[in-house]
Amino acid sequence: MASSTVIPPPTAPFATGKKEFGLSGFCSSQPFSSRKSRKSASKKIVSVMAPQQAERRPATTGSVKNAMTMTEKILARASEKPALSPGDNVWVDVDVLMTHDVCGPGSFGIFKKEFGENAKVWDREKIVIIPDHYIFTSDERANRNVDILRDFCKEQNIKYFYDIKDLSDFKVNPDYKGVCHIALAQEGHCRPGEVLLGTDSHTCTAGAFGQFATGIGNTDAGFALGTGKILLKVPPTLRFVMEGEMPEYLMAKDLILQIIGEISVAGATYKSMEFVGSTVESLNMEERMTLCNMVVEAGGKNGVVPADSTTFEYLKDKTSKPYEPVYSDEKARFLSEYRFDISKLEPLVAKPHSPDKRALARECKDVKIDRVYIGSCTGGKTEDFLAAAKVFLASGKKVKVPTFLVPATQKVWLDLYTLPVPGSGGKTCSQIFEEAGCDTPASPSCGACLGGPRDTYARMNEPKVCVSTTNRNFPGRMGHKEGQIYLASPFTAAASALTGYVTDPRDFLQ
Ligand code: SF4
Repeated sequence: MASSTVIPPPTAPFATGKKEFGLSGFCSSQPFSSRKSRKSASKKIVSVMAPQQAERRPATTGSVKNAMTMTEKILARASEKPALSPGDNVWVDVDVLMTHDVCGPGSFGIFKKEFGENAKVWDREKIVIIPDHYIFTSDERANRNVDILRDFCKEQNIKYFYDIKDLSDFKVNPDYKGVCHIALAQEGHCRPGEVLLGTDSHTCTAGAFGQFATGIGNTDAGFALGTGKILLKVPPTLRFVMEGEMPEYLMAKDLILQIIGEISVAGATYKSMEFVGSTVESLNMEERMTLCNMVVEAGGKNGVVPADSTTFEYLKDKTSKPYEPVYSDEKARFLSEYRFDISKLEPLVAKPHSPDKRALARECKDVKIDRVYIGSCTGGKTEDFLAAAKVFLASGKKVKVPTFLVPATQKVWLDLYTLPVPGSGGKTCSQIFEEAGCDTPASPSCGACLGGPRDTYARMNEPKVCVSTTNRNFPGRMGHKEGQIYLASPFTAAASALTGYVTDPRDFLQ
């Protein structure tokens, strides 16, 4: 089993003394001594905090002189304060406010109630409205929600509204994107150093771009619609240092399941989670998004990955808006530091009914499953499907249980039909999935990730056992309240589909 070492830095005002978790399994077999840990931590972190970037100088926040974490710096700049500390309450300027079909109507209602029927939003170009949750359904109330979004966008002349009018074929709706968190990134709304708010708890996904991104409720969203501001308490930061080469059978989903298993679903409550280290630097943007996506499952306020050349490359053709990345200072104060040797980590799952019920995939090999679901903002990106295709390709076998594929966005859907899978001789994901006997990729949306109306594709209407690449496995999350959800990486999900049991992907990838 996996484990980590926690290193409260000597300067941290919150430090409660050295804590060490059990060291069996993947974490370093050499327990850190307090002295050695601190020394090696500061040594390694220096290079993370000031990444080599020939093309872009790490930004400070101008007049800010006090040592701060990334999150503190972003909030200091957005509140025009020279320095901030955890616990400070500040009014923050919002760079982007996102809402969707579930929370948009309620937020608009509060906005109108508080600011007046004829009020105008604070900035029509900083609001992004994305129908994505309950889209492909005949449920009238769900359909009505999308109509409300459309009416509001028209009335307010909102610049970024990714509308869908014809539900019979998503492809005839060129504006339609799909799952908001992935669409935000693909459409260039995620930028380092900025503040992004969304009426969805997984808005934290955008922290992958080195920005402050967090979920808010309808009341805050209604207020932000009118003012472009939000009152925030500055969170303290937990730092997660991940070092070592990532084994080929692991994905970022395994890393975040490891962390949540370590600190529990309440371990980061109202805290920022900063991810650094050579393993994190080696991750592409979609994998960094997976990492940040699930910080809220540990109670985190936000997650951040320092922007680097991978970030800048991703953003190159997506935004022309200037942005200014920030980085934690060398002497920034962290509440705790957790260190992981990723080279020793094994594929993980989170057992029903909590994301912190961590177990090794191989420990669950006797768990018979009824279905597999690959989709959502966590596990429905292009890289996730490429990973699943890799497993199917390596096995040359057919799936033993119904395997549902729900691309997060229209762009991901297109990738499944056009991108050649490496090592396949030019086959696309969709060809490989068809040969393996999976269901045809569905229309992009949140799908059955959160259950949805009863006619939602792949919804668990009966008490089934499912391996899923989504992020929550609470009772009823995907439909039936007695359904059992094993959260896993796309590698593990695909391997499990091939056997009909929870399966370690190394059975096919080695
Ligand atoms: S895919 Fe799931 S977790 Fe992500 S935004 Fe949609 S419902 Fe929420």
